[in-house]
Parts: sequence; structure tokens; C-alpha cells
Amino acid sequence: MYDTEKHQASLLKQARKSIMFTTNRPDLVFVKGKGSYLWDATGKKYLDFIAGWAVCALGHSHPVISSTLKKQSRRLINPSPSFYNEPMIEFARQLTEVSCLDKVFFVSTGAEANEGAVKLARKYGRKHLNGAHEIITVWNSFHGRTLAMMAASGKQNFEPLFLPKPEGFIRVPFNDIKALKAKVSAKTCAIMLEPVLGEGGVHLQSPEYLLEVRELCTAHKIPLIFDEVQTGFGRTGTLFAYEQTGVEPDIMTLAKGIGNGFPLAALLAKDKFAVFEAGDQGGTYCGTPLATAVGLAVLTTIRDERILENVVKVGVYLEERLLRLKEQFPVIKEVRGIGLLYAIGLEQEIANDIAECCMERRLIVNSANPQTIRFMPALTIGKKEVDAMLTILKKVLKSI
Ligand SMILES: *Cc1c(COP(=O)(O)O)cnc(C)c1O
Repeated sequence: MYDTEKHQASLLKQARKSIMFTTNRPDLVFVKGKGSYLWDATGKKYLDFIAGWAVCALGHSHPVISSTLKKQSRRLINPSPSFYNEPMIEFARQLTEVSCLDKVFFVSTGAEANEGAVKLARKYGRKHLNGAHEIITVWNSFHGRTLAMMAASGKQNFEPLFLPKPEGFIRVPFNDIKALKAKVSAKTCAIMLEPVLGEGGVHLQSPEYLLEVRELCTAHKIPLIFDEVQTGFGRTGTLFAYEQTGVEPDIMTLAKGIGNGFPLAALLAKDKFAVFEAGDQGGTYCGTPLATAVGLAVLTTIRDERILENVVKVGVYLEERLLRLKEQFPVIKEVRGIGLLYAIGLEQEIANDIAECCMERRLIVNSANPQTIRFMPALTIGKKEVDAMLTILKKVLKSI
């Protein structure tokens, strides 16, 4: 008989030999996914509450993704970035229709979209703000892993890495308007924020704060950049998180959920701030028909399958259940979140242990930091999966 344990063990042996080390991974290899479930090479089934890292919004292996890839790959994959193509044009049209932004530039990753946003702001600064080039960002924020985005991110542990990093990023404390105002100067060309800090552990910026940031940007004639890489495409219950804040960004970046697992990201800007000139920005995979066809299919499916309604409904249920869990387990200090992006804050630094114990019981959750467990399931998830997740989490909390 075919020994799946042996097969997985040999895959792991080869992985240790030839996959470059960047992070500790559990001793398993995933081979299949469907909806909110993943299967490893031995056939074990896992309940997935990270969804490809807040990516597979429609669940794993949604048929619309494979049918779109099949159809578009037979027609045209990449005519080169120097030509227009049909899906690129149609997806950009729809994105500008459903958002407050006017122009779209497609890339492949969130970091790349954010780099584009920074370049756009600096270009605007050079053209219209006497060469202003500083970008203000927030401590505990995350904007990606290119050198410039590690410099822009507010993670303390990034600070000593890979020096020298690009300069011109000023960090301010989260949700603190006074601290922000103190840093805005003639050198500032943009303020860049996540409306909800995702990697930072799911912290919501207050609506009052965002309103004041908006006023500040307008008064100084600088663009407000929202990094909606994690919050965009339905994660918070509206297509974009900014819709719930009463504040419009001038520049916005999207990735993660936009491609449902296929590499796709976007930089969007209001007309006034779309100031690139020929040669300023580009890339081999900027708006391929294959990638943008997938994005278009994701957006259409979100609309057709009423995904946002599900996010709100199941999100409310998830919050209610997590609050109930908090009553039962004093180690849970707080429940934070919106839509289907939630976290529990812990009294002790046990998030890693909790996530590992959940994994042993075949539930995948994320320890965003030692005191935070984060949930970012597929947006198609039902109450049944929430209950199944909580049953396992309860057992784990009891055992710890
Ligand atoms: C994941 C993430 C990024 C980086 O996206 P990549 O596709 O990994 O480059 C940037 N900003 C936020 C808010 C993110 O959550």
C-alpha cells in the first residue's frame, strides 16, 4: 500500500535540504484545499482560519478561479506590459467605479503596490510641494518586505536589519493625532496608514483620528495613503475599509484578497495624484491579462455571491462567540476586530503555544504576536466553521 506518512516524511527531508530557510514551518506539506479546509500529504484535514494569510477570500480552490485561469490562459497570458489588454482595462474600470479612486496601476504584491504609492507621493512632492519627500507612517504598522517597505513599516525588529535602508520614513505612535501633527512639516509629502493594523495584531484606528488625519492632509495639500492590502476586498464587511470610516484616501493599495491566492495587487489614486511620467513606474507583470482576469472574477463573485453580507453576518457571530469565550477564560484580555478580521488579546505571552496546540488539533490560527491570536478566515465561512473553530480553541485554552 502507498505509505502517505513516508511520502510526507521524504518531502520534508527534501524541503529541509533545498528550501532556503526564512521561517520555521510545521512538519507537514499541504497538497489540497477546498473552502475553509486544507489537506496535508498524509490526508489529514485542517480547519483553516488564516485563508492563505487573509488571501483566499472565496475559500480554497473556488471553481471561478480555476475556470478563469483556464479560459484566460488559453486566450492570452501576457502580451507584455507595454500594451493594453482587455481584462486589465475592464478590471481597472470596475475598480474605479466601486471605489473613490480614478486611476489604477496593477502589480503582483502588496509591497510592490506600496512602493508605488511611496514613489507616487514623492513624485507629487517633487512636482508640487517643493521637493517634499518624507512619508509619515505608524509604529506597529506593516507595509511589506522590500527594503523601502521594511523602512516604512513600524516594526521595531525591522529597525536594525539590512542597513542602510531607504530614508525619509517618519514613524508616529498609533492613533495619536497630537504626535502626528507634531511631525508634519514642509518636508512631508504623504501620510500612509492601515485603517486597521493587520499584522500589528488587529488594531482599529478610531474614526475621529482618521477624520483628523484626513483634515490634516487636506490642509497641507498632501495625499493620504491607505494601505488596504489586508483590509480591502471585503475583509472588513465593506469592499474597502475606508467606506466605514467616513474618510476617503487619495491613494490606496490593494493585494491579498484581490487575487484570491493568485499574485495580484493594485495601486489606485485620485486623478490629481496620478502624476507618474513615462519611465517612472513599470514591471514585467504589471497588469497581465491572466492576473487581472482573476481579479475581475473575484470582484464579480463577491458581488454575485453576496459575500459582503456573509462577512457582516458571520463576523457579528464570531465576535459574539469570542466575547463569550472571554467570559469563560480570564486569560483573554480583549476581543478586537471588524468583519472577518478578528483577534483576541491575551494577558500572558502564550499565543505561540496556543497556535501550536491548535495546529496539533488541526485548526490553523495565527499568533500575530506573543499576546495576540488572529483570525482571518475565508469570507465564505459559515457559523458551522466558527463553532468548529471555537470547540478546538476552547479545548486548547483549557489545556494551557
Ligand atoms: C501583507 C501586507 C503587505 C505586504 O503584501 P505582500 O503581498 O506580502 O507584499 C502590505 N501591507 C499590509 C497591510 C499587509 O497586510
